[in-house]
Amino acid sequence: MKPDITTRDQLISRAARAARDYLSGVDDRAVFPSENAIAGLDALGPDISEHGRDDEQVLDLLIERGGPATVAQGGGRYFGFVNGGVLPVALAARIVADAWDQNAAMGVMSPVAAKTEALAQDWLVDLLGLPKGCVAGFVSGTSTATLAGLLAARGALLARLGWDVNARGLFGAPPLRVVTGAQCHGTVLKAIAMAGIGTDGVTFAPVDDNGAIRAETLPPLDANTIVISQAGHVVTGAFDPVGAICRAAKTAGSWVHVDGAFGLWAAASRRFAHLTDGLELADSWSADAHKTLNLPYDSGIVFCRDPQALTGALHNSGSYIVLGTGARDGMLTTPEMSRRARGIEIWAALAHLGRSGVAALVDQLHDRACQFAQGLEAAGFTVLNRVNFNQVAVACDTDQATNATLSRLQQSGEAWASGAVWAGREVIRISVCSWATTPDDVERTIATMITARSPRG
Ligand SMILES: *Cc1c(COP(=O)(O)O)cnc(C)c1O
Repeated sequence: MKPDITTRDQLISRAARAARDYLSGVDDRAVFPSENAIAGLDALGPDISEHGRDDEQVLDLLIERGGPATVAQGGGRYFGFVNGGVLPVALAARIVADAWDQNAAMGVMSPVAAKTEALAQDWLVDLLGLPKGCVAGFVSGTSTATLAGLLAARGALLARLGWDVNARGLFGAPPLRVVTGAQCHGTVLKAIAMAGIGTDGVTFAPVDDNGAIRAETLPPLDANTIVISQAGHVVTGAFDPVGAICRAAKTAGSWVHVDGAFGLWAAASRRFAHLTDGLELADSWSADAHKTLNLPYDSGIVFCRDPQALTGALHNSGSYIVLGTGARDGMLTTPEMSRRARGIEIWAALAHLGRSGVAALVDQLHDRACQFAQGLEAAGFTVLNRVNFNQVAVACDTDQATNATLSRLQQSGEAWASGAVWAGREVIRISVCSWATTPDDVERTIATMITARSPRG
């Protein structure tokens, strides 16, 4: 079943054309697909065929039935979760890199993967003001990055207590404890569970009305403790006071990990220096390039101050494995071995934006969020959070009205946001996280929300 070269060329051209056509119309399509479009997905199944089918037919079927059932995240009016948009240069680099199909596990496998990851690491450490010598692991997302950070923390703290966790495991090990904010992300608890530390023993530090840890009420810390600080809460955008947390942790000999999935990027803009002050004092950090930096999905990063701690937790070897050739061996800092060359599109985005471009992107998201907050307040909505970054949590007069408004907004096709509960109230949470969102998109969405609140008025 080897496709001939002509077929391959036709397939790739067809795919490139479909990608281009899709994006050129993405702002005109319904932001969430219609029920009809979703029903059209039935054509993709249900059973695997006995003898397969022509590859061009397969691609056409995917484009015809899959495309209409997409969520139009590439446009300017998708505000759900914290999903981010895609910079054209990053997407283009990804398309080329996918054709290259490089494996970033070992330097010997792909010089270009190794070089772009090495540059991406250096540039990001510089851009975010992290300590020199800090290493990065290019993983699938923040969930994995936080797990990797905790594995480094676990190994390093236990080693200091005289316990080799790789060899001896956790049974019988000195107990470790985690302190995190009462408003930590669900993936933090998942990582704590996966790392074998267990969520029962977590101490939740009290938080302020925006969801940030209050430094003055931080529980006592010691050398058995991992503190997980948050840079950017998913509903409010709140940042824990990371500098104060790190200073307390240093004195006590604790490890600090920062979950900065979308908020770590604030460190790239001077305007948000007050939010990330002291960030560089932590021991490990996680961030998503597929959020604020607007890369395609599957792009998380773990940073670790102590390279030995991260590689010590994640190393692996074998007689056929070739490491230390001089080029970067990506597998030493990730839980995965084989994986795609994630550094390529990070390199492309950073090479294109430069330092000021990244700052401008972050600033723009904040400006649009402020535009949302002001416009919605003026229209009689209540904004329940302090809009310090890119998140806006907004409510109508009653929970019932908020939920009805959200559901009509989601059905409008004009824009899409998701909901949450904040301060005991149902909220519509607006996450401005795409470069493609213009002031006009914000105005249009506010108008849609006003109509959705009182559809007959
Ligand atoms: C999105 C998010 C995560 C999870 O990131 P994934 O890339 O989806 O794994 C963790 N923490 C925060 C604060 C987030 O916003």
